[in-house]
Order: sequence, then C-alpha cells, then structure tokens
Amino acid sequence: MLDVQAIRKDFPILDHKIYDKPLIYLDNGATTQKPRQVVEKIANGYYNVNANIHRGVHFLSQAATEAHEEARETVRRFLNARSSNEIVFTRGTTESINLIASCFTDACMSAGDEVILSVMEHHSNIVPWQIQAARKGIALKVIPMDEKGVLNPDAYRELFSDKTRLVSVTHVSNVLGTVNPVKAMIETAHERGVPVLIDGAQAVPHTRVDVQDLDAEFYVFSGHKIYGPTGIGVLYGKEEWLDRLPPYQGGGEMIATVSFEKTAFNELPFKFEAGTPDYIGSTALAEALRYVDRIGMENIAAYEEELLRYATAGLRTIEGARVFGQADRKGAVLSFLVGEIHPYDMGMLLDRLGIAVRTGHHCAQPLMRALGIEGTVRASFSFYNTREEIDAFVAGVERVRKMFRV
Ligand code: PLP
Repeated sequence: MLDVQAIRKDFPILDHKIYDKPLIYLDNGATTQKPRQVVEKIANGYYNVNANIHRGVHFLSQAATEAHEEARETVRRFLNARSSNEIVFTRGTTESINLIASCFTDACMSAGDEVILSVMEHHSNIVPWQIQAARKGIALKVIPMDEKGVLNPDAYRELFSDKTRLVSVTHVSNVLGTVNPVKAMIETAHERGVPVLIDGAQAVPHTRVDVQDLDAEFYVFSGHKIYGPTGIGVLYGKEEWLDRLPPYQGGGEMIATVSFEKTAFNELPFKFEAGTPDYIGSTALAEALRYVDRIGMENIAAYEEELLRYATAGLRTIEGARVFGQADRKGAVLSFLVGEIHPYDMGMLLDRLGIAVRTGHHCAQPLMRALGIEGTVRASFSFYNTREEIDAFVAGVERVRKMFRV
C-alpha cells in the first residue's frame, strides 16, 4: 500500500540508535518527525528568501511575502476552506484555541452563558475557557463518555440550554484515540443555532478534513503534529465569524491605520496576525502538507488503521494489559497499562530498548480522573512506523511485564 522503506529514507532521525538500539519512535501524537523536504524548506527560506514580509518594496521582501501567502493558499486547499481569508496562522492549536476563547467570549458571551466541552479534552481546550470563566462568569458544561471512551450523544443533546453559546470539542482524543462524530455533533449544535470549534490537533495528521463538509465555525491544528515545524499552527474560521470577533493581540501587521486617537484594524486574516509572523514556518508547514498529500491521506489513514489493529492485537496477548479507548472508530493512538506497573516505569524501561512512548496524564487530567487512573502509557503511530517496530514494541512490553512478574 505504502512504500514505507522509501518514506523512511526521508526521515534521517529514524536511523538513529538509542542506547545502541534502533530508535522506534512511537510518540507521534506528541510530535512527528520531519522529512528532509520540510527541513530543507526551512534552510532554503533562511538562506535564500529571508526578509520581513508585507511592508517591503524590495525584491526579497516581496518574494518572502509571496511564499507566505502561497503557504496560506496551500493550507486553504488542504482544508478545502472557501477563502484564504479564513486561514489565520498562529503558534499552534493552543494559541488558536486561546484566541477563540478570548475573542469569542469578548464578542459573544456574557455572565451565565455556557460553553459545552467534552470530558476527553486536552488541557488546551479546557484551561483557556476556565480563564474566561473566571474573567467573565461563563459556565462550562461537560459531555460525559461511556466505558469504551465514546461520548454520550443523549447527554450531549441534554446539555444545550438557551444559554449555550459555543460547543468546543476535540475531533480525535489524544489519549483514547476516539474519533468523535463531529459532523453529527456540529449538526446538533447548528439545529440549536450554536457555533462549534473543533480541536483537530490529532485528526488532521491522520484523516482528510474538509471544513466545508464538516461545517464547523472554527477548526484548529498544529503544524508540528503533521510533519511541519514547531511554532506554527492554523486557525480556520468562517469569514463571517472571524469578522465578528475583535482582534486578539495588538501590534504591527494587524492594523490599517494608527493614530493616537484611533486605530483601524486590518482586514482578514491579518487582523489576527499581530507582529512579524513565522513566515519561514508557514512555508515549511505548506511543504509538510504537500508531502502528506503526495503520500495520500486515504493511504495514510488505511495504513495507520492497520498498524493500530496490529498493535492492539499484539498488546492483547500480554497478560494483565488493559487498553483505554475501545471506540469502533479510533485514531492511531494506543493507551494502556499492564497490571500494576507504573506508566513511568514502563516508559523508562521501553526507552532503554530504544522505544519512545509517552507516559503520564497526556495533558488530560480530567479524563484520567474519569477513568479512575493517574496515567497511561501511550504508543501513537505514523505512516513511517512498521509492523516490525510494533513487534519489537510488544516484545518490549512483555519483557517489562516479566521483569515485574505481573
Ligand atoms: N489538542 C490535542 C487533542 C492535542 O493532542 C494537543 C497536543 O498534544 C493539543 C491540543 C495542543 O497542541 P499544541 O501543544 O501543539 O498547541
């Protein structure tokens, strides 16, 4: 299906040895490795196309501006947004959500109004709303889930009231892997006239996202989780909604005219991009999206689904292994515990075998509380992972289990 060995050649880090063992990188949910094409784009940007953008008449500034705006167009095409005015570059998912939490609350909410979140949100889709709750007296309502890690659709519907102003939920859980039925959830919200923000951090790298088809008002993701650089991400917003919101930060780029008496703000998307943007990062992110497109999102989704199935089956052969997240539709995430072995012990011992997994609460402490645990071990997969790596991972977990005589 995929020529994984050829793909792996694009990722030099995958040839590294850790403690003299071949690196097996299964921490893709936290961040992905970068292909040469992306790293070369960054180097080429700084070597050959570096000048501050948007205000320069000179050649290099215009070339850098063009590259940055072409990158915006690449993101637009990738998400199938209507207009590049709907694509705002941010530092990542976290900043995108903070921007909406701050601006949406200012423009559209007053004390007593409600936002619906889910129990499986990452802290970055909880804390920004709590900050607004403390500032403006808004209330948070939380969709519960069942024991498989599936959100309860009836409970979701019952959470709506005439005070509900926004639904803000994750597309794919970074802990359970659950793919939430966001299209249906958006429809439910729209039937009640409520707009929706979708946290796409764990979805965009693994599945085709069409924002017009989903019809969410806002959709956000991070570049570094989709083979792009750190420090750049995207806020998609429907133009009519972004137009309604006040600016997030003040400074250069986001203004049309400034005097000490009055400032007029720039048009979209620049109204939300105060200061010098990461114009090298944006072009490298666009390169990453082209890379993913060349492999084909459908191929990626099918391959990773197969890897997840294989890894889950392998883990089930291990005595005492418990998998968290049993939804029918799952992203490439496998969270587990083995007996009473502490996740940190498992993670540290796997690391000595060259296997990189993540351990702990995964920035989802309320979810951990709902599961009645402190943390899990999480293996998360990419299209550059192989069945052989999964075999080594499962053998590694079994070896740790034996050490602890579970
Ligand atoms: N939302 C989800 C579901 C995530 O998994 C993450 C990162 O792990 C984030 C948000 C935050 O992303 P970032 O740290 O890139 O802003």
